[in-house]
Amino acid sequence: MTEDRLRIAQIVPATEAEGPGRRFALWFQGCPLRCPGCCNPEFLTFNGGELVEVSAVIEQILRAKREENIEGISLLGGEPLAHAAGAAILAKTAWEHGLSVMVYSGYVLEAARELPDPAVAELLAHTDILVDGPYVREQPDTTRRWIGSTNQRVHLFTERYRADDPCWRSPNTLEIRVRKGEISVNGFPAPQAVGLWKKPRRVEG
Ligand code: SF4
Repeated sequence: MTEDRLRIAQIVPATEAEGPGRRFALWFQGCPLRCPGCCNPEFLTFNGGELVEVSAVIEQILRAKREENIEGISLLGGEPLAHAAGAAILAKTAWEHGLSVMVYSGYVLEAARELPDPAVAELLAHTDILVDGPYVREQPDTTRRWIGSTNQRVHLFTERYRADDPCWRSPNTLEIRVRKGEISVNGFPAPQAVGLWKKPRRVEG
């Protein structure tokens, strides 16, 4: 793999709102899909975000493991499969360090397997949990935690997680952070709070 920089929209070093346990969450910048009602419209363009060295992101993941006791990483978007080469490096590294890997993709698994980029297979081969399919605004999921709409499927590719774990049925959470004068929000907001789920913004005063 030759990918040495990742186009990143946002990183949260430790969150409990993006998958089981405490996780390092990374949102890629850029998605070729256009789901109506997408919660992250500012993450769709491939021109925004920040280009970050893969080695620097790996350093952040390992620091989160040491200091935040994360159990895994979650890759979100944007569309992780549109950044598969870099995402695969992160996933492989996470596994090498005993961390689990969860990927959210707007592609259904069958379509993902047809994508021409060979790095997609490499990423899926180092994924524990794949949440697949586009977000469908008209079908909000009110029973499964961490899942946006009822059409989306949870694929457990390894034995690390179980479908009958009660963690999947707990209420969703929204996390709001204020750090160095900026607010960032992640997790699953109530419908009336969707507009809050945006990139960090300055706090006056
Ligand atoms: S796949 Fe995700 S990021 Fe892309 S448009 Fe759909 S909801 Fe938005």
